[in-house]
Amino acid sequence: MPGSTTGKKLDLSKLTDEEAQHVWEVVQRDFDLRKKEEHRLGDLKTKLEREDTKKELLGNQTSLTESHCIRCLQPFKFLLNNKRQCLDCQLYVCKSCSRYNKKEDGWVCDACHVAR
Ligand SMILES: [Zn+2]
Ligand SMILES: [Zn+2]
Repeated sequence: MPGSTTGKKLDLSKLTDEEAQHVWEVVQRDFDLRKKEEHRLGDLKTKLEREDTKKELLGNQTSLTESHCIRCLQPFKFLLNNKRQCLDCQLYVCKSCSRYNKKEDGWVCDACHVAR
């Protein structure tokens, strides 16, 4: 999780230590909750956008996409890291970047899986 939060500045000087501690905890908890929510929602969107850009940049570099996973950009290795073609985007991905889809008897890359 990136960044520590400075938050809103509170005047805690007029409170007792115990009160100040309590106020701080409440504020902190509320802030954390909201932060988490923002992060969850924002993350998915930026992740998808990032994947789209990567696809655009690398999608037509056929030699590269045939020998490297489009997601993690690791080279495919026979038996060690076999390539699979994603049902949705038709690009090649490695084992750790794809999921098997029983119903369609094929592989779907993580990005398409999220987009589904
Ligand atoms: Zn991969
Ligand atoms: Zn895909």
